[in-house]
Amino acid sequence: MTTGTIYLDNNASTRPLPEVVEGMTRCLNDQYANPSSVHQFGQTVRHRVECAREQVASLIGAEPREIVFTSGGTESINLAIRGALAMKPDRRHFVTTAVEHSAGLRLAEQLQREGYDVDFIGVDRNGRVDQAEWAAKVTERTALASVMHANNETGVILDVPRLAAIASEVGVPVHVDAVQSVGKIPVDVSHWPVQLVSLSAHKFHGPKGVGALYIRRRTRLAARVLGGNQEHRLRGGTENVPGIIGMGLAATAIGQDGGASIERVREMRDALESGILSSVPFAHVNGADAVRIANTTNVSFEGLEAEAILILLSEAGIYASAGSACSSGALETSHVLKAMGIEERLTHGAIRFSLSKLNTADEIRHVVGALPNILNRLTSLAK
Ligand code: PLP
Repeated sequence: MTTGTIYLDNNASTRPLPEVVEGMTRCLNDQYANPSSVHQFGQTVRHRVECAREQVASLIGAEPREIVFTSGGTESINLAIRGALAMKPDRRHFVTTAVEHSAGLRLAEQLQREGYDVDFIGVDRNGRVDQAEWAAKVTERTALASVMHANNETGVILDVPRLAAIASEVGVPVHVDAVQSVGKIPVDVSHWPVQLVSLSAHKFHGPKGVGALYIRRRTRLAARVLGGNQEHRLRGGTENVPGIIGMGLAATAIGQDGGASIERVREMRDALESGILSSVPFAHVNGADAVRIANTTNVSFEGLEAEAILILLSEAGIYASAGSACSSGALETSHVLKAMGIEERLTHGAIRFSLSKLNTADEIRHVVGALPNILNRLTSLAK
């Protein structure tokens, strides 16, 4: 990133930590053997992959053998949902929420086209899943229920333990998209009554294009990518060894942090939010009354267009996002804000600021100071 710029788009992707870059570089230079080769060089690389599996498992309270490496969150979600549904061909009912990331949402829509009965459970104005609706829809006829842990647009944390408990009472397996929560709040899958959890390295200062799926012991899943025997035969193909090593190192760094940086990030996010609310009378925070991850604020600037705000912010060296990164470029109304019942005059001007431990309080002060001028330019143009 250019110096003098401020990166507040960490829910889209984070900067890999120096130790991650160093470990991956070493791997590319010196540890290039195939981990499936029986010679000593190959086995050294195998050892590095298995160390990374332990590091990722330990971050989320899993056992190493419960971790399968994938190419990222999207693939993990597809493997989890498709793989679990394939094991129950006689049950054609799937339950998810209306606020999932496009990885889960597009797949659910595709399942509908394939003849599945899919229920999208709604949320309240603060983005919290309607538990009564969830309990009514998740029944013995349901093959799988899938829910995200933290929403990528608003940061709202969904009550996974409660929703999973409801599903497990009727024997329905649960998949959790924890892509935005791992690294931002403690996640301990051993305390969740769930079978499958998706994660992605680039959301917690690891590299892009690598993720993992937690598969609870004794959960049966059909493979999606057929090939060699890698990853318990669930995902054939030579492993992305540098990526896996990078993911392991990022997981260890977060574990060692012990939550200290989460509190610092929360202070910065709260300062940003209160700074904006006190200087911009037409700003509204979406999901403000829900429990949220510490790094995210989703602010609607009433009557303005997000795209225009983002362009002026970018010119000022401030990088943020409108809704999820996947939908920016073609800025459609956010399905998440829509599901929350936020009015159109507010959804059009919704900006997501997402912080990381690499941000500083000075940067936040700078953004709070710069924003009113940027918005004034737009409001005077709108007149
Ligand atoms: N799930 C959520 C909640 C996300 O925010 C994202 C990425 O933005 C994904 C899944 C997809 O992850 P990946 O980019 O690793 O495919």
